[in-house]
Amino acid sequence: MEEKERMVLIDMQEEIESVIDAVRNHHELYTNALPLIASENITSNPVRMLLASDLSHRYAEGDVGNRFYQGCKYIDEIEEKAIRYAKELFDAEHVNVKPVSGVNANIAALFALTSPRDRMMALSVPNGGHISHSKYSIPAMRDLVLETFPFDVKEMNIDTAKMLKEIKLKKPSLLLFGCSLFLFPHPVSEARAAADEVGAKIVYDASHVLGLIAGNRFQDPLREGADVITSSTHKTFPGPQGAIILCKEEIKEKIERAVFPGTVSNHHLHHVAGLAVTLAEMLEFGKAYAAQTITNAKVLAQCLYEVGFDVLCEHKGFTESHQIAIDVLKYGGGAAVAQKLERANIIINKNLLPSDKDPDKPTGIRFGVQELTRIGMKDSEMREIASLITRAVRAKAEVNRVKEEVKELRKGFQEVKYCFDGKDAYKFLELKLSEYL
Ligand SMILES: *Cc1c(COP(=O)(O)O)cnc(C)c1O
Repeated sequence: MEEKERMVLIDMQEEIESVIDAVRNHHELYTNALPLIASENITSNPVRMLLASDLSHRYAEGDVGNRFYQGCKYIDEIEEKAIRYAKELFDAEHVNVKPVSGVNANIAALFALTSPRDRMMALSVPNGGHISHSKYSIPAMRDLVLETFPFDVKEMNIDTAKMLKEIKLKKPSLLLFGCSLFLFPHPVSEARAAADEVGAKIVYDASHVLGLIAGNRFQDPLREGADVITSSTHKTFPGPQGAIILCKEEIKEKIERAVFPGTVSNHHLHHVAGLAVTLAEMLEFGKAYAAQTITNAKVLAQCLYEVGFDVLCEHKGFTESHQIAIDVLKYGGGAAVAQKLERANIIINKNLLPSDKDPDKPTGIRFGVQELTRIGMKDSEMREIASLITRAVRAKAEVNRVKEEVKELRKGFQEVKYCFDGKDAYKFLELKLSEYL
């Protein structure tokens, strides 16, 4: 009996250590790599500390000042600040910081604004739409009739003239803008009058571009006529994983109910604290961060184009966002190239392009430069990275050397920028938190 208990304990210790080792290895990989996945970012140190705080253990169902549980005095203060900062940053009439993911926010917004058998219009997945906009996800769960936006492949955007005709013909009750392969602003203002004519609401899914919107770049969906913005908070917006909904005052009740109690019971309070801090960071540094992000994307695209990569949309400057898209069919397709780059510690994803016939064999790759921008990289690093990418994709035997150069480059970029580096303030926070950890 005694012996058995001891063996269990030893095993448990080993198991726990093996998990911690894997996390350590993961950290080592990511501090020595060039993460270029367009949907990711990193949080500042204070946000990381908040994510480990006691808030992660608590419940606070309900609203600020009106909770179902006691003990929420400071949680109220934190959530109130997050909402206030978001209203200020995005000039939004109403804000909800509770959805725990972008898809969660989309479920809440689409259920709030549609009834079963309604029609909605969104981008198809090969044209850049997110899976949650597709027949495999929310539209099917809500039993909606799904129409897709007409798409201009050459322009890599919604075909505005055809879209207006389709809206008048199909009379959808909801238009869902925004997408995941998102190079150029969507025609929201152009759609507004047609939407009014047929009584459609406009939802703008800003998951990829919220950090650019925060810095007054890309587009301003609320001013252009969107009724609602749904968004993840961890892509170009460099906050904790989670989501936010911004909307007009007149539909706030519907949105509120669809979030709580509709699709979230307890929201993630440590993420709300991290979001509040990231919103403050973006109020201060958002403009500089967004401008450099877009510059970096354009420089990387230009350099890769000049050495012969088929970067999409050269005729319109490649991109207006953090992303660039490349057709890599001549190098064996998206999967082969993404794997090759991974061997050099350059981390990207294969991506479907509108021209793809087989959804299981994407011919494209997608880069996002927001995370490298967040750690301080600028134009000259983008030039260097373009050359590393070129060598890693084309080289036969050289990949290990490229990997060493990637590690060398990363040595100079280990700190998060565009956040307060008032280290003393954080020391204080760290000390206070460590009393409880
Ligand atoms: C990433 C993404 C989402 C999903 O966000 P999660 O936080 O992963 O649930 C939703 N919509 C679009 C357009 C996205 O790119």
